[in-house]
Amino acid sequence: MNEFVQSLIHPSPQPGWLRWMRQLLPPLCWKCSKVLGGKTYHEPASPFLCKNCLIELPWTDPVYHCLQCGNRTAEPNRLRCEECLDDIWDLDESRSGFAYNETIRHWILQLKFFGQEHLSPLLGRLLALSFQNSTWLERYDSLIPIPLHSTRLRKRGFNQSLLLAHHFQKNMEANFPEIQVHWLRRIRATRPQTELSLAERLVNLDDAFSASPDVRNKNILLLDDVMTTGSTLNVAARCVKEAGANRVGALVLCRKMWDTLE
Ligand SMILES: [Zn+2]
Ligand SMILES: [Zn+2]
Repeated sequence: MNEFVQSLIHPSPQPGWLRWMRQLLPPLCWKCSKVLGGKTYHEPASPFLCKNCLIELPWTDPVYHCLQCGNRTAEPNRLRCEECLDDIWDLDESRSGFAYNETIRHWILQLKFFGQEHLSPLLGRLLALSFQNSTWLERYDSLIPIPLHSTRLRKRGFNQSLLLAHHFQKNMEANFPEIQVHWLRRIRATRPQTELSLAERLVNLDDAFSASPDVRNKNILLLDDVMTTGSTLNVAARCVKEAGANRVGALVLCRKMWDTLE
């Protein structure tokens, strides 16, 4: 990872006395606050969730999901589920680490809207854990975190997808696709997709992205924190493909399954 990318990843702003205090305390489970044995927070392989909380997370089943849209399916290894049979997707495939639930939602909201950047190493590690022993990533040359528009980036101070990509990479073995932050730009400020209806979501994203010619003939993996209907990732995939990319997949930390859509 180059220096520019490093400069975009801010360390969590903890005062020195707080860091010092935390080193004296035993680590606690991030979810249930149970005391975890052994290592301190600052060791790279320190535990962050107790065994029960880790098991209870809504891990995506690598077999029972639609390869096209990433939605949960009743039958194994479905290329396309009923819901996306008639849809024309620009994404070639979609994967998620977890289904969207209250626990994951809480962590993502804390990270994005309450400045809790220290959660990004945890989320990156969780995503990496969900891909342990998987060779799936090897089919991609480059990974592009979904960019924020410059106005939102200034307001938030960081791009959560880039933080996630960085910590995901740190927890993975070799053969990780190269992270590219300049290959896709958000050139138009759009309203948050969560505020809009399905029809409005599609119009809202018209011409929202611009892709670099560097994507030509590359297999590109787009990374985002949440996938709801998939419209943002699909529009980004279309833009990258129009610029000459070969295969374009999507990876998200968590996906809202259709049966839980509001
Ligand atoms: Zn726990
Ligand atoms: Zn599907």
